[in-house]
Amino acid sequence: MSAPADRPPSVDKLARSIADVGLPHPMLVDAARAAIAAGAPDSARSIAVATSRRMLRPVINATGTILHTNLGRAPMAWEQPERYTNLELDLTTGQRGSRMATAGALIAKACGAEDAIIVNNCAAAVLLGLGGLAEGRDVVVSRSELVEIGGGFRIPDVMARSGANLIEVGTTNRTRADDFRSAIDDPNNDVAVVLRVHQSNYTIVGFTEAPTTAQLAGLDAPLVADIGSGFLDSRCPWLKGDPPGWLADEPAARQTLDGGAGLVMFSGDKLFGGPQAGIIAGDAELVRKCAAHPLARALRPGSLVLAALQATALAYLAEDGDAIPFWRMASLTVDQLRERADAYGVGEIVDVMSTPGGGTLPGVEIPSIGVAVEGDQREALRGLDHPIIARVDHGDRSAGETTVLDLRTIHPDDDEVVAGALRSLTSTT
Ligand SMILES: *Cc1c(COP(=O)(O)O)cnc(C)c1O
Repeated sequence: MSAPADRPPSVDKLARSIADVGLPHPMLVDAARAAIAAGAPDSARSIAVATSRRMLRPVINATGTILHTNLGRAPMAWEQPERYTNLELDLTTGQRGSRMATAGALIAKACGAEDAIIVNNCAAAVLLGLGGLAEGRDVVVSRSELVEIGGGFRIPDVMARSGANLIEVGTTNRTRADDFRSAIDDPNNDVAVVLRVHQSNYTIVGFTEAPTTAQLAGLDAPLVADIGSGFLDSRCPWLKGDPPGWLADEPAARQTLDGGAGLVMFSGDKLFGGPQAGIIAGDAELVRKCAAHPLARALRPGSLVLAALQATALAYLAEDGDAIPFWRMASLTVDQLRERADAYGVGEIVDVMSTPGGGTLPGVEIPSIGVAVEGDQREALRGLDHPIIARVDHGDRSAGETTVLDLRTIHPDDDEVVAGALRSLTSTT
């Protein structure tokens, strides 16, 4: 449909001609306008299709990164009927209830805390925790933990926003309990809390020293620990076997609280394996102070998130790791994965390494099984109706590059779709 340059096609007519793309008319009008402005009316359809493909949709994660930040971290299924919920109604008394009470109490129980509240993510939990406990007062942090998590979340900046004042102690590689003690004892300071921030996405190796949780908990100010990942209990009672070795150094909520921390804060969608959320759990009085801060209202989640967290917490309490997709994927054995890869009947079966991802456990790799096909097929796989996200292995020069699909993060229900896609790729190239 090319019109003469002096008479561009009518935007409305062009938009109607691509109605089959399935977008609402105003969006088709935008696509038509953009195409006409670019002097290429024929491109309206591809612009509209590109817009449509930007909409949130399920994708198949074949990267082997279990918590893939670009793919929504922990996957989980949650459906809510079109019905009211008892979000803030106590069905026993008929009185107004608290939206946090149920999911918060379940998570608290699952990690051995007295109480817990829930906000939108861990960044919000840190903001509320510091605001609730230390506004206008001092917070002591080790210089080795003044971290940036990603997406501009920097501890010193969050601290400033919370209204708390940062006191840095120690050095990048070595900090001792005495460094914290001196800051607390200094009469010029008004220390409200000691903050520990887990080095989620980096490690400091070599000549290092850091105080234990118990040492920090013994100081004259409550210890608040941003543990980040939401690993609930280092004994992993929700798994059938022993805790995986790759979790050995990851701080867990229960053990951090048992070690004397007043509060722990963590994400809902990292190792916890639930929806995006932030949890503040621990001493009931400290939790109450956070909940009483005016920001708590601004940071509170809605019923969709609370119901999904409730389901995740119930799975932990039932010790049913299979009901939590992250733990199900993390626990798959190489033999199970190889059997599935065999059934694909396409490509080459290769040993690969999965990673937990999500800015957790830097350097940790979990042996896995992949299917490799020749060349860089990422774009073709991404372009499918059911997009598949894969990675490329550049290999050694003689072998050339291959596209590798790690089975650990592919839902078994998608195996047939993936195998079919690989078959059609390899038959056309
Ligand atoms: C991931 C992480 C955060 C941020 O969590 P979000 O839920 O993404 O806001 C904060 N602190 C630590 C230590 C983390 O690992």
